[in-house]
Amino acid sequence: MTSTPTNRTTAERDIESLLHPYTNPIRHQEIGPLVIARGQGVRVFDDTGKDYIEGLAGLWCTALGWGEERLVAAAAEQMRTLPFYHLFGHKSHDPAIALGERLLALAPVPMARAFLTGSGSEANDTALKMIRYRANALGQPNKKKVIARDRAYHGVTIATSSLTGLAVNHRSFDLPDPAVLRAACPHYYRGGRPGESEEAFSTRLAEELEAMILAEGPETVAAFFAEPVMGAGGVVVPPADYFPKIQAVLDKYDILLVADEVICGFGRTGKMFGSETFGMRPDIMTMAKGLSSGYLPISALLINERVLAPIVAEAGRIGTFGHGYTYGGHPVSAAVAVETLKIYAERDILSHVAQVAPVLQDGLRGFANHPMVGEVRGIGLIAAVELVADKETKTPFDPSWGVGATLVARAQDHGLILRAMGDSIAFSPPLIITADEISEMLYRFALALADTA
Ligand code: PLP
Repeated sequence: MTSTPTNRTTAERDIESLLHPYTNPIRHQEIGPLVIARGQGVRVFDDTGKDYIEGLAGLWCTALGWGEERLVAAAAEQMRTLPFYHLFGHKSHDPAIALGERLLALAPVPMARAFLTGSGSEANDTALKMIRYRANALGQPNKKKVIARDRAYHGVTIATSSLTGLAVNHRSFDLPDPAVLRAACPHYYRGGRPGESEEAFSTRLAEELEAMILAEGPETVAAFFAEPVMGAGGVVVPPADYFPKIQAVLDKYDILLVADEVICGFGRTGKMFGSETFGMRPDIMTMAKGLSSGYLPISALLINERVLAPIVAEAGRIGTFGHGYTYGGHPVSAAVAVETLKIYAERDILSHVAQVAPVLQDGLRGFANHPMVGEVRGIGLIAAVELVADKETKTPFDPSWGVGATLVARAQDHGLILRAMGDSIAFSPPLIITADEISEMLYRFALALADTA
């Protein structure tokens, strides 16, 4: 038996015991961990007591901030009553049923059922499996290709990594090819051609999508996956008419739309779902993060009748729908999610976001004239500042410098946690953030930018 070593620093114990996700292990040995000990409101505190404003709500998830006692109470009560049960083989429990009902009632388009899972990746993986299952059920075994976009982020399971359109998630993993086609990213600042209007850009992307579908054969294309605002790809806010144009193409060729609401769901973009903000009519919605304010792992899919009916009908041929996770709809997570959704409603989180979003969006746009800032983009309480070496030509900084990571490190010095997506610095604070706290966050960001310049 080994005992916990007492003569070691926390940093040493971390370095010797953990392989960190999404982390360069060599760099980690050099710089060590930032150990977060506790949180309150929009702030977290490290193990020396230093406070940080959490500008990314953890990983875009802690919408209600830290220390929300109602969620603690909901978890504790459910732990005592029924800490575990599952939904397999006709079993059920109240927290899952209540969550399914609430999600169906919140859906911005008619949805038929909720399917409960444990993480964003699991939700999107499940969507992929349902799409294939449905194609078989409909007698369309060739209609299984899916389209995802460059810079998309849909998870890291072996299948959802393939949906994800970021090199770091592909390199050296030898992903199998689950028939993912790649469409363009709707980032006008980077993808728009000289003289092309935003509207013409959207039209072109929709035309390119249609050309791809026709080249592949519409009878082979099943679904299009899209985050309303791309998060990990650098907070890409699409032009207003992008999704309506894409939706028209999908409708024309009987292609399902999967809205990945893992980041955008539950108020992040100003409406309850990003699909509402951007005029999407999804057949499947996947959601996580804000669903439980990150307090416990849980995710969900909502599926409409077009998806549900063939899956149900297939039972007549092959019986059981053979998919589900032990912890899908875990009762404690589900109880916390139900409580989270109640709090959003009671505190009218959407009105709060509407009130404070301009402080963030206008405040960040105040940095637009800074010589290192190429673009400021965002909507609601999600935004990014993209750094460039040359504003006129939009030339990026030499990647060997790692300007994004440098700025994030300086922000950390000033008590602000942010995340760099390449050279874009992402902001996605807890939705409960006040105008004053946003101002403080922007002040700390200004200090970090000054230190980086
Ligand atoms: N989809 C989106 C849009 C995400 O941002 C993420 C995670 O950040 C995922 C899916 C994957 O979620 P998870 O990390 O819970 O598997």
